[in-house]
Amino acid sequence: MISSKAFTFRDNSLSPIWDKVRNGVRLTKEDGLALYASDDLIGLGRMANEVARSKSGDSVYFVLNRKLEPTNVCVLSCKFCDFAVKAGSKEAYEMTLDEMLSKLRPDLHEVHITAGLHPSWPWEFYIDMVREIKTQFPNVDVKAFTAVEIDYFSKKFKKSHEQVLRELYAAGLRTMPGGGAEVFSERVRKELFKQKIGAKTWFDVHKTAHKMGINSNVTMLYGHIETIEERIEHMLRVRECQDETNGFLSFIPLAFQPGNTGIKTRNDFTSAIDDLKTIAVSRLMLDNVPHIKAYWVMLTAEVATIALNFGADDMDGTVGEERIAHDAGAISPMELAKGKLISIIHEAGKLPVERDVWYNPIEIYPAKGTTVVSKMPYLNSVPFYHEFAPALKNIEVAPLMPSVLGRFARLGTVSAGPLSLRDFMSVSDRFDRLEYGIAVKGNAHSVLLFSKYGWSDLKGKRIGITSESSTSIELLRILLEKRHGVHEYEFVKLHPAQIQNNLSDYDAVLLIGDEALRNGELGGIPGFDQMYDLAGEWCSWKELPFVFAVWAIAKDVPAEAKTQITHSLENSLVSSAGHYAEIGREHGKRLGMDDAAVDAYLQTFRYRFGIDEHAAMAEFEMEWESLKRNNRTVPVGHSIAA
Ligand code: SF4
Repeated sequence: MISSKAFTFRDNSLSPIWDKVRNGVRLTKEDGLALYASDDLIGLGRMANEVARSKSGDSVYFVLNRKLEPTNVCVLSCKFCDFAVKAGSKEAYEMTLDEMLSKLRPDLHEVHITAGLHPSWPWEFYIDMVREIKTQFPNVDVKAFTAVEIDYFSKKFKKSHEQVLRELYAAGLRTMPGGGAEVFSERVRKELFKQKIGAKTWFDVHKTAHKMGINSNVTMLYGHIETIEERIEHMLRVRECQDETNGFLSFIPLAFQPGNTGIKTRNDFTSAIDDLKTIAVSRLMLDNVPHIKAYWVMLTAEVATIALNFGADDMDGTVGEERIAHDAGAISPMELAKGKLISIIHEAGKLPVERDVWYNPIEIYPAKGTTVVSKMPYLNSVPFYHEFAPALKNIEVAPLMPSVLGRFARLGTVSAGPLSLRDFMSVSDRFDRLEYGIAVKGNAHSVLLFSKYGWSDLKGKRIGITSESSTSIELLRILLEKRHGVHEYEFVKLHPAQIQNNLSDYDAVLLIGDEALRNGELGGIPGFDQMYDLAGEWCSWKELPFVFAVWAIAKDVPAEAKTQITHSLENSLVSSAGHYAEIGREHGKRLGMDDAAVDAYLQTFRYRFGIDEHAAMAEFEMEWESLKRNNRTVPVGHSIAA
């Protein structure tokens, strides 16, 4: 939910645009042009920063990554490219597989592979490249090959785009980088890179990938010969594709590095003002793209820092070799160490969050004295955050899935949030419980077991389990064991990409939150005939509500911060009452829900706790303890036998 704050602008033309943004009305091409034309840079930044905060709280993401450019030999000669050379040229290089592997380390989380279009490398070499990396570095996720490369493989090796992607996916590729199209303008393409694929093929490749569960990024190269109108049109095309597939993870504006390209004089870099405007306009126009990246290698670390208050919420990564930008004269240092990235993000007044390729948080690094409050990124939690704005500067908000919040609460890096009931049980000696949380008496519609079998036939079956919440897993276990007498089964952790991809290997699948809601609204998952609402099952069995989450604050949080957090929660609940459709509209739209469906869904939850919820929590604890005493709570990934 975007802040309802009214801003005063130096440029009055920004006021109606801000009204549209905060009321969830999409910006038009004319709005985009007006944003670029405005000289109220600070006003633009404030708007974009509010939108970024509504999506990512105070979090700014980075990843421990390494870029690999296995060769600079390319069959094409794009005019702006200072990287590629022809085979046989004295600058040409071609890495062996061993050389590529020697660049990687086990503590990396991402390898980003792009290269020239090599004239003679065989298809098997690309497959081996991905497979070997994944085999030798299982923790490293492979983000590889632009749409230009995928299309080149398709033509050269006579395979469809889908077949190319399927074979790469089977070898270990999980996401795709967003380059290759530069700017989606036919005029620019003809002028600068007429042999390269156009926008249509670029989108065809990405749509194919998204439909297969392969997420991707999308870049925009700006600051060469493109017009402002072409930049806005580029953004609108991205927005349109995202409406269809929801597969883009981030948008990355890339400032053009003139180098020796001859397109501009060598030192004619984009201005810092143009860079900041482009970040801010991207954030405002692309309402459906989750993240905007300030790509520090091309922006410089200094401008990237300011960009974190102009709508960007991602700093990219630690990056190893960046030959493409370097060869064209990028002025950033080659490597920013993790510590440096963290201090840049702190300097920007934000919360550094180390992530994987899908933006799942791996670690967070709050500045000393900061109280981190978790924001549950599900529709059912919107009423808590509608007016959640503690006045203290050292309270920072981070969107975290329930299981991630539980892990950080145990580590002591997050101090408050709606803890999953099971996680609260594990930290109750260090956290105080508030009288707020998420409970339901009846169906919750967002904790669903999709099954090929009835309950009692799940004996000996393989159940795919979301890793998002420990309470839902334990609830399923209690229902299987205690209600339905099923004592033999296997819980298998679902990989995030699998939720969109291939579930047919499982006999049943447990989904929670928005993913469950989306599939439930669609009437279920094809191939799974049964759909069980776990909360509904519990409530009809126990005649009690079910409590999913409990708001709690660490005992060592200063009293002033505790008071602020509690007041802010109370304000949010009071102001959201009676306005559920309005406050959940934007989130509901992403799930395909209209106002009436959003209102009905949110009305099912109890956000304040009373006697019934206390009794329900005690009952759940009693059932779970009894399973534990009988050694029935083995971790996910292990079979459990009678
Ligand atoms: S931009 Fe890509 S396709 Fe074009 S010459 Fe450079 S490496 Fe080759």
